Amino acid sequence: MRLAIGIDLGGTSIAGAVVDSAGRKLAILRRPTPASEGPTVVLAAMQEMVAELLARSPGPVLGIGLGITGTMDREAGISIISPNFEGWRNVDVLTPFRQRFGLPVVMDNDVRVGALGELHFGAGRRYRSFLFTAIGTGIGGGIVFDRQLYRGPYGTAGEFGHIPIRADGGPRCGCGATGCLEALCSGPAIRRRALEALADRSEPSVLRSLPAEEVSARTLAEAARAGDRLAQQLWEEIGADFGLGVAAYYNLLGPEAVIVGGGVSLAGDLLLEPARRAARERLMSPIRDHVELVPAELGDEAAVVGAATLVEGLVVA
Ligand SMILES: [Zn+2]
Repeated sequence: MRLAIGIDLGGTSIAGAVVDSAGRKLAILRRPTPASEGPTVVLAAMQEMVAELLARSPGPVLGIGLGITGTMDREAGISIISPNFEGWRNVDVLTPFRQRFGLPVVMDNDVRVGALGELHFGAGRRYRSFLFTAIGTGIGGGIVFDRQLYRGPYGTAGEFGHIPIRADGGPRCGCGATGCLEALCSGPAIRRRALEALADRSEPSVLRSLPAEEVSARTLAEAARAGDRLAQQLWEEIGADFGLGVAAYYNLLGPEAVIVGGGVSLAGDLLLEPARRAARERLMSPIRDHVELVPAELGDEAAVVGAATLVEGLVVA
């Protein structure tokens, strides 16, 4: 049995698992991330999780794979910037793990490893070429081309969330630009759009009875499913914007599918159906007949399983 450890470092929680070559999780742990306590404390918490997983593992592991947010120098093992973490600049991530455990340790961006999880064990098993995108606090992406993750020369390929959707300004994005897909369709962007609609439009809506802090992509989806017209209209608008990003991707790379994960993807066809329509309207034949916009299958475990597949020898491509 081939085994590896995968760790997914998120802004709110750290997940870790011993994963076998069939993608089974033989032990899985989830702990809150001490994000405000600085990189040393966060890295120590990750190492404690690795130690615990090694103790529970049914056999020796091939190595450790880490999925982390932000920009990085993957080869050097340096996390350059991670916007969700206090004081996180040019952090040497890999050295402390190598010194403590004496095992191969590799890392990559958390959404890129999510793409690997879906590729080997999720919705991506059916396709040779696809985009995996995770819609949550931000919008990340991972390009799988011919069953390989394409990273580009700087490890930055797949930043789907920063495709421009509004040419004439639009809301400010975390990257500094305006009008990016992420600034229109991420969880916080959807919340902002809902609050703006409640302020600017006069239609009745069940959302008006909620305190402002409870307006979110999740409550917007619940309202739309319960028949709320304003909520349904907002999902049409949000999905249409998402579809513009999908059309851009299909025009460039002509993939077999776009696989959509992350918390916002739980809105399902409220988001995906208007996105399919908007994408098809902007594509030419024959690719317009091949738009497959499908939900991810591994949920929030895609990254932890995918991180384990970074370890050489766990899966054979
Ligand atoms: Zn951006």
